[in-house]
Amino acid sequence: MKFEENLKKYAEVIIQMGLNLQPGQRLIIGASLEAAPLVRLIAAAAYKRRCRFVDVLWGDEQLTLVRFKNAPRNSFKEYPKWKTDALVQTMKKGGAVLIILGNNPDLLKGQDHKLVNAAQYVAHQEAAKRRKYTRRNKVNWCITSAATPAWAEKVFPNLPKAKQMPALWDAIFTTSRIHNDSVADWKKHIRKLSKISKYLNKKQYVSLHFSAPGTDLTVGLPEKHIWTSAATKTVGKKPIDFVPNIPTEEIFTSPHRDKANGTVAAAKPLYYAGQRLEGFAFTFKNGRVTDIRAKEGDKKILKKLIATDKGAARLGEVALVPHSSPISQSKLLFCETLFDENAASHLALGQSFRDTIANGFTMSEKALVKAGGNHSLVHTDFMIGSKKMGVDGIKKDGTREVIMRSGEWAYNKND
Ligand code: ZN
Repeated sequence: MKFEENLKKYAEVIIQMGLNLQPGQRLIIGASLEAAPLVRLIAAAAYKRRCRFVDVLWGDEQLTLVRFKNAPRNSFKEYPKWKTDALVQTMKKGGAVLIILGNNPDLLKGQDHKLVNAAQYVAHQEAAKRRKYTRRNKVNWCITSAATPAWAEKVFPNLPKAKQMPALWDAIFTTSRIHNDSVADWKKHIRKLSKISKYLNKKQYVSLHFSAPGTDLTVGLPEKHIWTSAATKTVGKKPIDFVPNIPTEEIFTSPHRDKANGTVAAAKPLYYAGQRLEGFAFTFKNGRVTDIRAKEGDKKILKKLIATDKGAARLGEVALVPHSSPISQSKLLFCETLFDENAASHLALGQSFRDTIANGFTMSEKALVKAGGNHSLVHTDFMIGSKKMGVDGIKKDGTREVIMRSGEWAYNKND
């Protein structure tokens, strides 16, 4: 009984806070077959808000595996482009997009790397087409998750099989602030995040300095950078407030593509290309990764990642998350960036955001790059925060101000 109630509240939070779906809007959902019970509740909540039509692009990981095992080896650049078209057409008509994750992070472990890379490359290219709309906030969109057996086993390997799914659902509900008064609590949470981003926006630090064991990194920020929190709004005449990620705890901006210097150590494992990469470090010089320290196999994968294109070796995101966030407190490793990035302060290699530089949405590509923006097919988050992380803001005149100490907010609240 309790589970059904929570699932219903979760669906409501996704429609009301995540998408803030408007009467008359269409909604297109990308979800796995296993998320069907949640998808039906979301559709019901959407129609209650007078949504015109809810459509779903169903996915099935088992089918992906069947393909990797059986399809012709030269066919992995095939991609169902009609799926991209469906998303783009819906967005062109002003429809909202919801993606429900629930991936098995190890699905493609043991499959031929070349095939995985080929499939991933096309998938990245297709994703870039739809991101033209989402990254510019042309419509309201949201990424959230649903528990699946393979994912639950990954997060709770030591629990008996029958308890893994309930445990993962519980963890999703807790970290997504699902309880009696979820919508009101979400509004409060978002107000708090907005307050901190406003404070940092007023400060306009020229750079941030991160220090922790293995980390001594200065990240330059573009002029007129904008710190953004969970909440954002669509562009256009009638802006719609929405929350693109559920859960979310971060405050983030785009670093200057040419101004990162120093070394940074990953504080948590990174799941990438079906592999768990751990204990690696990047050294940056004038914004570019010049050295990778990692285990032999991991190094190969990270080298490939930064060689994806020119922008993949530069930063596209810097985000601050206190160590006390509910995800960090859950002490779980979700093996899913949507959750794990909210457990710690982090950086991302690759594509930066348009809405984190003043007038970013209307700037030409060239002007954006000149201002410090970064272009890439990839955007890969890696966690650097811990309870030992200190963050300083450096002002134009070189003076430093405290932002975080021991992984928690420590800025001068009276400032
Ligand atoms: Zn982030």
